Amino acid sequence: MKCYICDKEGKETETVAICIACGIAVCKEHLVREQIPVTETYKWGLGEETVTLPMSLPRILCTWCYQALVTQKQK
Ligand SMILES: [Zn+2]
Ligand SMILES: [Zn+2]
Repeated sequence: MKCYICDKEGKETETVAICIACGIAVCKEHLVREQIPVTETYKWGLGEETVTLPMSLPRILCTWCYQALVTQKQK
C-alpha cells in the first residue's frame, strides 16, 4: 500500500502503519506515536463530568490527525 499523505504530494512510499483516528495508511515519516490520555465523559442527570483514566494509550496517528489533536489540546 502507498502512504496516503505522500500520494497527495505526488510521491510513492511504502506504508508501515495505519492511523487509528482516520484509518489511512501512512509511511514512517507521516506517523506520530503518541501517548494520549484517555478521557471518558459521564453524563449525569443535570450535567456531565469528564474523567481522565489513569492509563494512557500508545497510539499511532497520521500527521494530519496529530495536528488536529494538538490544536484541540491548546484551546
Ligand atoms: Zn508518507
Ligand atoms: Zn489520521
